[in-house]
Amino acid sequence: MEIVSTIKEVRDRVKAWRKEGLTVGLVPTMGYLHEGHKSLIDKAVSQNDRVVVSVFVNPMQFGPTEDLASYPRDLDADAKLCEAAGASLIFHPEPEEMYDEGFCSFVDMTGLTEALCGLSRPVHFRGVCTVVNKLFNIVTPDRAYFGEKDAQQLAVVKRMVKDLNMDIEIVGCPIIREADGLAKSSRNTYLSPKSREAALVLSRSIFMAKKMVEDGERDAAKVKKAMRDLIEAEPLATIDYVEIVDVNTMKSIDTIKGEILCAIAVNIGGEARLIDNFMATI
Ligand code: AMP
Repeated sequence: MEIVSTIKEVRDRVKAWRKEGLTVGLVPTMGYLHEGHKSLIDKAVSQNDRVVVSVFVNPMQFGPTEDLASYPRDLDADAKLCEAAGASLIFHPEPEEMYDEGFCSFVDMTGLTEALCGLSRPVHFRGVCTVVNKLFNIVTPDRAYFGEKDAQQLAVVKRMVKDLNMDIEIVGCPIIREADGLAKSSRNTYLSPKSREAALVLSRSIFMAKKMVEDGERDAAKVKKAMRDLIEAEPLATIDYVEIVDVNTMKSIDTIKGEILCAIAVNIGGEARLIDNFMATI
């Protein structure tokens, strides 16, 4: 496995693979890789001849008061995980390689990006769409892999690929959790032991809501109220949102039917803003 930092190096490697008739999978990440990322790489390795993992903490998707500077980074550990999982190449560019002086072109989306995380992170999805588009143009993968952990991001990327006629298959991968239920996240490292315990309100409320829906509850307000009550009982938790939406529009729904996304964002102890969700087809 090789680690490269320039766009030209990626293009040269991919060109050589294409000459051999090989297929290419891409797993975009911000690094500090864990089992959640590994599940995406495993899937990519199983479906493609070569797999590129991008490790790039994309400044454009962070707001001015967010955690860009403190976001955890460990390229050596990431390289070990990628190599063991069978990836062929890590693309680890500096921000200047991706955004050179005078950069002024963006990929923007309306609708889907104006709910959930888009409300409290107004520049986030413009940054995501722009960087994912750039990575697609650089790597030209056959398939790209995204986690359901970031369900809105997955929906946004699928929509972008459809709207802009990109010839890339988007593969969604299930949420990987810690043994006690907490969804794995690079941001979990921000949590003190007390907050780590408190963070379990996220998965607990998601599991409870999922059971309510499985047991036949169709009133979204009732499910959201039960989730809010559970989360608000934890003193360290502050709700950003608790929502049930149509996964194709990200619009809030009153009656639970069709393809739904139940998603939450909760700040824990002022240390980390965490997200969790479940999707269902009713
Ligand atoms: P990130 O490095 O946080 O930007 O994540 C890179 C990719 O890994 C995204 O597509 C995420 O949805 C996915 N991912 C992160 N955590 C998990 C998880 N716990 N389970 C599944 N996928 C995940």
